[in-house]
Amino acid sequence: MDTRLSVVKLRAVLAGLLGLSLATAGPVLAMTTTSSDEALYRLEAGNQRFAAGITQHPNLSQSRLRETVEQGQEPFATVLACSDSRVPVELLFDQGVGDLFVIRVAGNVCGVNEIGSIEYGVEHLGTPLLLVLGHEHCGAVTAVATGVEMHGSIPRLIGNIIPAVTRAEALTGKHGEEVVPEAVVENVWQSIGDLIGGSAAVRQRLADGRLKVVGAVYELETGTVRWLGEHPRQAQLLAAGPTSPVHTPEPTVEPPVEPVPATEESHSTHAAEAEAADTDAAGAHAVDAEQPAEEAGGGGMTDEERIQLNRLAIANQGLNSMLMIVTGGLLFIALGLAALAYQVFMLKSG
Ligand SMILES: [Zn+2]
Repeated sequence: MDTRLSVVKLRAVLAGLLGLSLATAGPVLAMTTTSSDEALYRLEAGNQRFAAGITQHPNLSQSRLRETVEQGQEPFATVLACSDSRVPVELLFDQGVGDLFVIRVAGNVCGVNEIGSIEYGVEHLGTPLLLVLGHEHCGAVTAVATGVEMHGSIPRLIGNIIPAVTRAEALTGKHGEEVVPEAVVENVWQSIGDLIGGSAAVRQRLADGRLKVVGAVYELETGTVRWLGEHPRQAQLLAAGPTSPVHTPEPTVEPPVEPVPATEESHSTHAAEAEAADTDAAGAHAVDAEQPAEEAGGGGMTDEERIQLNRLAIANQGLNSMLMIVTGGLLFIALGLAALAYQVFMLKSG
């Protein structure tokens, strides 16, 4: 194992040296033969450089830009990370253009879109390594752990994080801010679990050894990546096969604004009015009463109103068509008369 690792490291170092000396050429990254361990080592080495302040900023030349267009991209790793502005993936691994296939989403959750993107990276681009990178002080994880009020689509986005926080609480007995460090780790495992359960392509590649999936946590203060390795229950997850990939609970805090049931009267056309109506039902009715008929084109109409409006629209269309036909006919007659007058005139003068 040690010798194998040394060989891997030696190859990676050689690859790195090649990259330095041949910044314009493809060999570094045209590493179709890059193994999972080599890819992992390149990430480890890059982060060590970054944390130590001795970055090389590889693969950022103009020729590199051209090369990745002409020869296509061949990233050596796929990375799922958080959108947090303090987690700039390429920078913290000291990588350049065309090196990493990165998916960033708040809370590094792994829903359908993320799974699709990851499949593109590992299947289509053939990256031998997938890293799920959580980070300290993650706002999304903290929001779930502390029960912060969330609005819009955020509750549904972070639905994937809830099981992770629940597990961390059960494991540690901690709650709120205190459980966040453990919840961040559990959230990494959650995303890996969601990915394995949700992607046949990933399961297949994991099983036949073409792909390695590892987790890690990025430490904001030090710039260091703490490596977690493979999912501790990867074998069981693989054996379990497909699972439902997404956790999309109903929004817990804010009821949906747009879809109003046809039987209810409450509706308004402006978001501000809608918000006001949320807290004041009487206000909502007042808005309704004052609402001009032509403004009723918004989301909150009854079926009857919709039918009425449709009828009006159809009648309007009919009227327009008739007007067009009449205008066309009149034009035709006018042209005919003009032609006749011209002939008469020619006959007389001839
Ligand atoms: Zn985050």
